[in-house]
Parts: sequence; C-alpha cells; structure tokens
Amino acid sequence: MTAPGYYTPAARLARAARERATAGWSWENAPRRRAAMVALVLRVKGRTCHLCRRPGATTADHVVPRSQGGGHDLANLEPAHKSCNLARGDRTLAEWEAAHPIHLPTLPPSREW
Ligand SMILES: [Zn+2]
Repeated sequence: MTAPGYYTPAARLARAARERATAGWSWENAPRRRAAMVALVLRVKGRTCHLCRRPGATTADHVVPRSQGGGHDLANLEPAHKSCNLARGDRTLAEWEAAHPIHLPTLPPSREW
C-alpha cells in the first residue's frame, strides 16, 4: 500500500504528529473507534464467523491475539460471533482450530486416486 518514497517530508511530519496524538489511546478505552473498526470489518469481510464458519458475526476477532502483539487493523481482524470470540480468548488460531475442528465436507477415500 505504501510505495517507497511516497511520503513527502511534510506528510512524514504530519504522520509523526498523528502518531504522537494517538500514542495514548487504547482499543479498550476507545469504544467509538472500536465500534467503527468492527463495523468496517463486518462491511469489508462480511458476517461469516471465521471461527465457526457460520453467518451472523457481530464482533471483530484478532487473528493474532492482542497479547501476542496483534494489531487493530483490517489485516488482523476477522468477523466473529461474540460467543466464539469470547470462547477463543487469547488462544492462537492454531490452538482454537485444534480444539474446535471445522468439519468441512470431505470426499470418501478412493482406491482409484
Ligand atoms: Zn462463530
């Protein structure tokens, strides 16, 4: 998204100022920002829960948990049910999938393959 040389010196200064201004905010203490981000995730990625693969997601789940350095950005947020999101907690996706295998339709084994 960001090409090398894209930022002019003025843009760099403006960006640094923005980063200082937002350095103190936290996701947990910014309910409106959080709600806007959740709405964006649901709009861009749909409402299919990435944890159980069923429709009706209403929250955004961090793919890489916050506790492991995951960011609040579109790349790290996926739609999830509140219940699935809470159930997953701080587990990694791999841990979640091991505990909750997703049953995808499978073809019977064939001797002809
Ligand atoms: Zn779900």
